Amino acid sequence: MVSGISIGKLFGIAIELDWTFVLLLLIVLFFGYFTIVVILFLMVLLHELGHSLTSRHYKIKVKKIVLFPLGGASIIDLDDADPDTSLRIALAGPLVSTALALVFGLMYLYLPSGAMGSALEVLFLLNGLLAVSNFLPAFPLDGGRILKSYLEKRNGQLVATERTVKVSKIILAIYIVGSTIYEILYITDPGTFVLYMLWNVIIAIFIYGGARAELEMAYISKYTEKLHVYSLLSKDFIQVKSSTTMGWLYRILLRRGARTVLFKDGKVVKMVSRITVNGLGNKTGSLNLKVSQFADEIPAIDYNANLSKAISRMRYEESGIMAVTKGKKVIGILLADRIEALAALHMHHALAKN
Ligand SMILES: [Zn+2]
Repeated sequence: MVSGISIGKLFGIAIELDWTFVLLLLIVLFFGYFTIVVILFLMVLLHELGHSLTSRHYKIKVKKIVLFPLGGASIIDLDDADPDTSLRIALAGPLVSTALALVFGLMYLYLPSGAMGSALEVLFLLNGLLAVSNFLPAFPLDGGRILKSYLEKRNGQLVATERTVKVSKIILAIYIVGSTIYEILYITDPGTFVLYMLWNVIIAIFIYGGARAELEMAYISKYTEKLHVYSLLSKDFIQVKSSTTMGWLYRILLRRGARTVLFKDGKVVKMVSRITVNGLGNKTGSLNLKVSQFADEIPAIDYNANLSKAISRMRYEESGIMAVTKGKKVIGILLADRIEALAALHMHHALAKN
């Protein structure tokens, strides 16, 4: 999984900069637009805190906030949230931006103009833009989630998502047609024209791709909600003790093919990848090192749990693998790529029928 740079915690929530944001920071440092990027960063962060703190208020787990150049994302375990709660969480972000836009707008109007004037104007415009764009009912914007949660109360998850995807495409079409007409009529400089067109392409990929991903997820959870974890259980693992040495493990793996090595460390299940073992297991210096030094914790789930629950946990934990337990024992593993491949097959059947 690609992740960004961790920059600390706020209210106990980890804040991360996506690597594209870091890239943008370097570019703007070069061109000298540093202040505006820092302001954008802070305003997006406040918007995301709106989502995250609302989630926490409703006892929904928040893993972290990731900041991208065009906005942010709060990684929230929405599986436990009913449509009403999801709706409130989605609303909170744009409401924070609206409130900030109002405050800065009023300050701009009523404070004596001076050096602060242009800064307040920028703050008003940025927050206004964040509020307005996120109220548009299109995936993957907040407005899309608001509409979906609203529809979900009466129509169920899949139909709500399908309808929101349709609305998203209509909004995208209106935006593309509208902005293209505007550009043809008012933009005479060819360079600027090309830049605007490129921007439209980015927006189209963002909305179309986001809507497609939401639809896929809705199909996956619809398809897996009645299946149990044990129906996709894989036995492609071996289990060892945490005190096992790398050299010993290397020799075991030479005899037994297995993709994954697991061991229990107290209550948690940890994993050592085969690549790590192959790289270190036959080097003289590392023969006696314990596997526990090279292990990462992986999420675990009961074998009787719903497959859809397992998928949302894996997504939330950003893990492609999960240990399946029965009581205190590990009885198998669950691989995200296998579930997704199966669900994708099912989805193409469903889409073909439509
Ligand atoms: Zn938002």
